[in-house]
Amino acid sequence: MFVSKALKINSKNHLEIGGCDCVDLVNEFGTPLYVMDEGLIRENCQLYKNAMDKYYNGNGLVLYASKALCTMAICRIAQQEGLGLDVVSGGELYTAIKAGFPMDRIYFHGNNKTKEELELAIDNNIRRIVVDNRQELNHINEIASRKGKTVNVSFRIKPGIDAHTHDFIQTGQIDSKFGVALENGEALEIVTEAVKLSNINVAGLHCHIGSQIFDIKPFEEAARVMLEFIAQIKEKLGVEIEELNLGGGYGIKYTPEDDPIEYDKYIESVSKVIRNVCENKGIKLPFIVMEPGRSIVASAGITLYKIGTIKDIKGVRKYVAVDGGMGDNPRYALYQSKYDAVIANRPDAPKTEKITIAGKCCESGDLLAKDIMMPEVKEGDILAVLATGAYNYSMSSNYNRIPRPPVVLVKDGKARVIVKREDYNDIIRNDIIPEDL
Ligand SMILES: *Cc1c(COP(=O)(O)O)cnc(C)c1O
Repeated sequence: MFVSKALKINSKNHLEIGGCDCVDLVNEFGTPLYVMDEGLIRENCQLYKNAMDKYYNGNGLVLYASKALCTMAICRIAQQEGLGLDVVSGGELYTAIKAGFPMDRIYFHGNNKTKEELELAIDNNIRRIVVDNRQELNHINEIASRKGKTVNVSFRIKPGIDAHTHDFIQTGQIDSKFGVALENGEALEIVTEAVKLSNINVAGLHCHIGSQIFDIKPFEEAARVMLEFIAQIKEKLGVEIEELNLGGGYGIKYTPEDDPIEYDKYIESVSKVIRNVCENKGIKLPFIVMEPGRSIVASAGITLYKIGTIKDIKGVRKYVAVDGGMGDNPRYALYQSKYDAVIANRPDAPKTEKITIAGKCCESGDLLAKDIMMPEVKEGDILAVLATGAYNYSMSSNYNRIPRPPVVLVKDGKARVIVKREDYNDIIRNDIIPEDL
């Protein structure tokens, strides 16, 4: 009945997640409130990991793409489930370091890593820096030689795959700020350059073709294209690339219309393609890396709000405003993402009217869902926006100086805070009035 299997209706006729009644959660922690179901996060990690074992003899590593939701506790869960971590900034890397995450399971991405970030990564001996471009390659080699180290790198390749997704999150094509392209020879050039550098070890190739993809085909195609490139490198340079990282982007169910594929199916199908192509091309089976982000955490999360102002503009639109908005969930404002929602204090109420859920920020585009069917709502009702576990807290801001909500982790009827609620002191924490002002 709900888009996420983390949710059910309890005996009080309230929405329940991780054994916790959402009305009780709101009474204890207030609103807005991010809630994450620990059990489902772990289950998702296991689904990928077990599939890697089953379909590819465990000759691979599943990374959690932490940008989807990066906190120390979430890093800890990924670690306990045997996953590696994909980080895209010094801040994410620092979070992992502070969480005690094993550095030999960390991959560092990004199209403009600063020298300071590279240094942090190299000092901590992370497993892999995924090189985006020539300038970065040279920076790494420079830092590594200064420190007397050899750095294991892979390369972000644009395989030229059209992943049939929203333009903003399509990254495999040549017109993208990420990586180097195959089709114009850039990719071969950078690998050729890298094998000559004394403090660089060429360990692998990487691609990431987009996000919220519902089709297996683009992944199979990407694997094929990348393996052909590995074969070409072997032929031209005599170098065997041992690792192939196929990125993330596996789609999740945001609305009842979304129909995602079971995540293990991706590994099953792609493994077959990999075995076939490797046999045909006479290359070794590579170590496989996958980087699911959204599909690990999105469905495990909900955001709870209190309903405030209700504005029924007859013949135009009915706006229902909540006590959060684009500050805690900017995804509608960014790319008109769709969400499903329920009234947590009567989740089985029939959906009888079309409403638009608005936030409280001073932006007309500050919406959470436009024209969705909902029960009739009243002030004080608790609204649960579903599948908000990915790219919500991690993309949140203090726009309008609204403090960020806390994140609570729920499991077996117990709720633990993993990120504290911000207060007004946090809002002014870094403000300074200069003495001579
Ligand atoms: C964002 C990103 C991911 C994760 O994408 P999801 O859609 O959240 O699965 C994985 N790898 C790279 C390089 C990314 O940029």
